[in-house]
Amino acid sequence: MNIKPDHALKILDRLKEEYPDAKTSLHFNSQFELAVAVVLSAQTTDNQVNEVTKKLFRQYNTPEKIAALNESVLEKLIYGVGLYRTKARNIKKLAQILVDKYQGKVPDEFDELLKLPGVGRKSANVILAVGFNKPGLGVDTHVNRVVNRIGMVAAKDPAKTEMYLKLLIPEERWGEAHHIFIAHGRKICSARNPKCQDCIINEKCAKIMD
Ligand code: SF4
Repeated sequence: MNIKPDHALKILDRLKEEYPDAKTSLHFNSQFELAVAVVLSAQTTDNQVNEVTKKLFRQYNTPEKIAALNESVLEKLIYGVGLYRTKARNIKKLAQILVDKYQGKVPDEFDELLKLPGVGRKSANVILAVGFNKPGLGVDTHVNRVVNRIGMVAAKDPAKTEMYLKLLIPEERWGEAHHIFIAHGRKICSARNPKCQDCIINEKCAKIMD
């Protein structure tokens, strides 16, 4: 990792000007709903998740209600998102664990979140940052691609990318950085055809300077 923190922060600042309102597009009304939406969002678009949760949460929006659901019924309710069978199993187990061990509440500690079925590092970071306003920097495919291209990190493994980014960016900006890199990845720095000519940080980007 050669980039200096002040250079990384200049890039982040520039991107923030471009995406001042970057935030999650998942719909939720509680920390539990957020956790379920985040688990559902793996390999699925946020729009697909929102379609499913709009109906699901109308009736089943607490750990107690989801834990009491038959797994096959839950599968039908979330049908439409990728890996719905695995996700139904994980969400039902997650809900049961919250009921049994956490008084029906989503824990606000990273290591506790990681113990929940279907919750990996990215999800735990997002739940912390979005649901609890605590430091969390989730690295999904957009974040990983964008920050590697920019030259902020040189790591294929999302866990390493997360570690390096957390060293570069002050923790009060982790949540914001996550949303900004995703916004830039979706709009400009796409996987196949990044629009480098239209990119507001192209003069600072390692991909261009190489
Ligand atoms: S210049 Fe190209 S590769 Fe670099 S961040 Fe912009 S779109 Fe991505």
